[in-house]
Amino acid sequence: MIKGIAASKGYAIGKVFLHEEVKIVISSETVDNVEKEKKALQSAIIKSKEQIEKIKEKTMKTMGHEKAEVFEAHLVLLGDPEFTGAMEMEIENNHSNAMKAVDDVMNTFVMIFEGMEDEYMRERAADIKDVSKRIIANIAGKSMSSFSIEEENTIVVAHDLTPSDTAQLDRSKVIAFLTNIGGRTSHSAIMARTLEIPAIVGLKDITCQVKNGDMLIVDGIEGTIIVNPDEKTIEEYKNKKQSFENEKEELKKLIDVKTKTLQGKRIEVSGNIGKPQDVHQVIANGGDGIGLFRTEFLYMDREDMPSEEEQYEAYKYVLEKMESKPVVIRTLDIGGDKKLSYLEMPEEMNPFLGYRAIRLCLDRPDIFKIQLRALLRASIYGNLKVMFPMISSLKEYQQAMEIVEECKKELKSEGYRYNEEIEWGIMVEIPAAAVNADELAKHVDFFSIGTNDLIQYTLAADRMSEKVSYLYDPMHPAVLRLIKMTIEGAHSQGKWCGMCGEMAGDESAIPTLVEYGLDEFSMSATSILSAKKIIINC
Ligand code: PEP
Ligand code: MG
Repeated sequence: MIKGIAASKGYAIGKVFLHEEVKIVISSETVDNVEKEKKALQSAIIKSKEQIEKIKEKTMKTMGHEKAEVFEAHLVLLGDPEFTGAMEMEIENNHSNAMKAVDDVMNTFVMIFEGMEDEYMRERAADIKDVSKRIIANIAGKSMSSFSIEEENTIVVAHDLTPSDTAQLDRSKVIAFLTNIGGRTSHSAIMARTLEIPAIVGLKDITCQVKNGDMLIVDGIEGTIIVNPDEKTIEEYKNKKQSFENEKEELKKLIDVKTKTLQGKRIEVSGNIGKPQDVHQVIANGGDGIGLFRTEFLYMDREDMPSEEEQYEAYKYVLEKMESKPVVIRTLDIGGDKKLSYLEMPEEMNPFLGYRAIRLCLDRPDIFKIQLRALLRASIYGNLKVMFPMISSLKEYQQAMEIVEECKKELKSEGYRYNEEIEWGIMVEIPAAAVNADELAKHVDFFSIGTNDLIQYTLAADRMSEKVSYLYDPMHPAVLRLIKMTIEGAHSQGKWCGMCGEMAGDESAIPTLVEYGLDEFSMSATSILSAKKIIINC
C-alpha cells in the first residue's frame, strides 16, 4: 500500500494513465537578431492568451465561475509588465533566445514564491510555471500537454498537474488523479474537490512506482493506493465506494434542512470562508450562514493593504450573497503563522504568544479603522456580526469597541449609513477568556470558540509542530471543561455561543458539543452536510 496526502475524498478503481510532461530542450545559445526573438516571444504570449481564454470559458461552463478565476489570474500574469517585461529585458540585455528568456524569468519568480512563508503563496509558484511553460511550448510550436485519454475509468498519474491540465480532464473518463508533488491547498487539489473526484497528492515518486495499464485502487479518504489488487480486495473497495456514494446522495437531502436535535433544539450549521467567492460553496452545501470569515486573506497575496473601498466591496458581496442569513466576520488576525510581506513585524521567540490579531489592531488603529469603517458601511446589506480574535481580557474588547464608536461618529459626519443592530462578539481561543466567560458574556453579544488556538494554548502544544501533535487533543478533559464553561458562561447572560475551530466539524466531537448546548457550528463547506446528519441524530 502506498500512502500520500488525501486531497479529495472518494474511491476509484481503474487503470493508470501516466501523464508525461512535454519535454522541450532549451538551449543557452545567444541570438544576434534581438527584434526577431522579441517578436517570437510576443506572438507566443498572444497565442497563450487565446488558449487560456478558451480553457477559462470551458472551466466556467464545467466547474463554475470560481474555478475559472485561476485562469483569470493566468491572464493577469500574461499581461503583467513586470513578468513579461522581464522576459523582453532578458532578450534585450543578454541576447538570450526567447525560450531561455522565459525559462530564466520563470525560475526567478518561482524561487521568490517558493521561498514565501505562506503556504497559499508557495502554491502560486505552480501558476507561474504553468503560464511560462505554455509560452515556451508556443515558442517551440508544440502543444502543451498530451492528454488523449480514450478509456473510461482512467486514473491519471503525473509528476504534477497544472491548473490547466486539471481543467482539461475529461470527467467522463478520468475518475481520480495522483501526483508526486503538491499539498492540500494546491490548485489541482482544490479543483479535484470541486470536480468531486478522489485525488492523492504529495506521493513523491508515484510516477516511478506504477506503469501504464496497472490496475489501481485509490482511497481518497485514507490517502492510500493499492497497485494491482486481487479480486477480493477489488470487491471490498467496490462495496466501500458504493456506500460512500450512497451516503453522499443521502446527505444532499439535508441541504435545505434546518437542523434540529432530537429534543427539538435548533442548531445552526455554517461555513468558514477565507475569500468572498468561497461563499458559493457554503450556499451549495446548505450552510445556514457564515460562521467565520477569516479576513486576513484579503490582506495576503498582495503588496499593500486593501483599501476601505476594496474591503467594503468584499464584505458587501458576502452579505448580499448570503441574503439575510448571519455572516460572522472576524477582524484582522495577522501574526502567528500569518505574515504580511508589506507589514514589518517584530522578530519574536513565540509569535503565537506575541504581537498578533487584536493586539496588533489595538496598537495600529490606523490599520484597524480602515477595516472597521468598511465593515460598518457594508452592514446595511445583510445580517452582519463582527468578532474580535484573541481576546484575553474585557479591556481589549472595550478598547476595540471605543475604536468602533470613533468610526461610527466619523461615518455619520461623512453622511454614511450603517446598521445599528450589528452584533459584536469575541473569539474565545485563549484559556483566560474561557475561564472568565460568564463575566465577558455580560458585555458582548456572542462568543465563537476558536478551538484551533484554544487547544494549543491549553495544552501548551504548538498547533504547527508535528513533534507534539500527539498532545494536541480536542477531547482532552481540560479542553472540554473550558468549552463547557464558555457555553454556560454565554447562556448565563442570555447570549449565544458558536464554534468556528476545526473541532466544530469533527464528527466524533459533535455529539459532545451538542450535549454542552453549543448553538452554532461553523466549518469548511464540505463538512456541513455530514455535520447536519450527526446533529439531527443527537
Ligand atoms: C481558531 O483558532 O480556532 C480559529 C478558528 O482561528 P484560526 O484557525 O484562524 O487561528
Ligand atoms: Mg485562532
